[in-house]
Amino acid sequence: MNVSPNSKRIGAVIVAAGRGTRAGGALPKQWQFIAGKRIAAWTAERFLARSDIAQIVLVIHPEDQQFANEIKGIQITFGGATRDASVRAGLEALGADITHVLIHDVARCTVSDSVIDGVVTALGTADAAAPALAVSDALWHGTNGKVSGTQDRTGLFRAQTPQGFALPAIRAAHRAFNGMAADDVEVARAAGLDVTITQGDESNLKITTPDDFKRAQAILERSMDIRVGNGFDVHAFEDGDHVILCGLSIPHSKALKGHSDADVGMHAITDALYGALGDGDIGQHFPPSDPQWRGAASEIFLRHAVDLAHARGFSISHIDCTLICEQPKIGPHADAMKTKLAALMQLDRTRISVKATTSERLGFTGREEGIAALATATLVKP
Ligand code: MG
Repeated sequence: MNVSPNSKRIGAVIVAAGRGTRAGGALPKQWQFIAGKRIAAWTAERFLARSDIAQIVLVIHPEDQQFANEIKGIQITFGGATRDASVRAGLEALGADITHVLIHDVARCTVSDSVIDGVVTALGTADAAAPALAVSDALWHGTNGKVSGTQDRTGLFRAQTPQGFALPAIRAAHRAFNGMAADDVEVARAAGLDVTITQGDESNLKITTPDDFKRAQAILERSMDIRVGNGFDVHAFEDGDHVILCGLSIPHSKALKGHSDADVGMHAITDALYGALGDGDIGQHFPPSDPQWRGAASEIFLRHAVDLAHARGFSISHIDCTLICEQPKIGPHADAMKTKLAALMQLDRTRISVKATTSERLGFTGREEGIAALATATLVKP
């Protein structure tokens, strides 16, 4: 029975219970690091990033639980002695509301959205669909290092995952299946299901050998978007009894002059974020000519820039801010500034630096006419 795409509720089962160390290394390959992250984490994130996947089950070996616990937002279940047993455990762990399932090999950590889209779309009209690539190389039979025959490649495909199924159909197929299947399409076909072939991708590789690690790393790093932005700001002193720097009110014999609260540090950080996003500056987003920003707390500006970065899929990797002034002394307050910024930006304190320098009594900062601030922001989109 087919269901309309609108009533689909899709779960994903990621099979990660294998003990394979063919790829080299002490740990099973899915728990090894590649481009700064465990392979299983890369794979899980491909599915976590999708709004059309309602539940993700990672099927693991019990000995690997400590690694699996590092991955947030997924459900963990223990697999069995064979791949089939592990898939069955994953299928049984899916919620009662799930209508369709994508079964995926953990070692395919470079699967693209378009490959997943192809399977999901096909499930709108089919009970089973899986990505594959037509074989384009000539095929031989070989014996003892010599070609012993040739094989017609017409109609031959290289199978990939995720393989998608109507959940009741693949559950029943797995319960009925005896023996060892290479993949779930084989199980489905044994139960009489028609399987639609969708478009695979050369980049959707299954990490098996040490060479595959290098290829997967190149693919993951190619898709990573790393940006660095800088910001600079100056505010002059005027009469007053405190300044606001990086969100902190610091007693001083003068105040900083500006339309907002004149938080020169926070303005530089905000501009560094806009800079990394290639999206103008603080003055464009919050025009000083607009009376609603008069006296505004600068955290409004910073939050806007942070939200903009998140909305575009970036996480903030690091912020470095340097305040340039003779007075007030920043050192005693730098730690509290870090804490304040960390809370505002929802960042770990170790990702924020606030430091200060004087300008050796030279220039406007040296004459104590105002404060300058420099900031650098590093953004990463995996
Ligand atoms: Mg400013």
